[in-house]
Amino acid sequence: MIDTVVYPGSFDPITLGHLDIIERARGLFPRVIVAVADNSEKRPIFTAAERLELIRTSAADIPGVETDTFTGLLVDYLEKAGCFTILRGLRAVSDFDYEFQMLLTNRRLLPRVETIFLMPQEKFFFLSSSLIKELARMNADLRDFVPPSVERALKAKLAVKKA
Ligand code: ADP
Repeated sequence: MIDTVVYPGSFDPITLGHLDIIERARGLFPRVIVAVADNSEKRPIFTAAERLELIRTSAADIPGVETDTFTGLLVDYLEKAGCFTILRGLRAVSDFDYEFQMLLTNRRLLPRVETIFLMPQEKFFFLSSSLIKELARMNADLRDFVPPSVERALKAKLAVKKA
């Protein structure tokens, strides 16, 4: 019945944890729109265009995945896209409070919206984009956490920042 789900987030940058969720969702739904929030308050290290490009490259082999950006309220984007199912990933217990709050807020703003949660493989349970950025700053090997293109982009970005 559900044809399309929207997977919103910062994706600064996309990790193997995000990709795990996208693949799982594609096993359930024909179309997944990965929607990058263009929200400067979070002070992302990659621009929205760079984050989109990294998602496109990383998910190139998964059919049925589309990418987009949005600014402002997610519910406004959902109305524009004509899709009312939000996909989010759930990791450790610490995600729950925030996700629950977001779900209730989005439901209050737009009652027809449903949010569904998927859990990644255990090995991605503690993986986050912020952890990856920390590790990249310390020049760690990131191959178990992000696709090669993301590792290259992170190292290039951080090298430019240091210069
Ligand atoms: P946001 O700023 O909206 O939380 P993120 O890019 O950090 O954006 O996360 C987007 C979504 O992906 C969230 O639902 C988050 O819980 C989920 N997510 C992030 N990392 C992982 C991971 N390692 N495994 C599963 N889900 C994840």
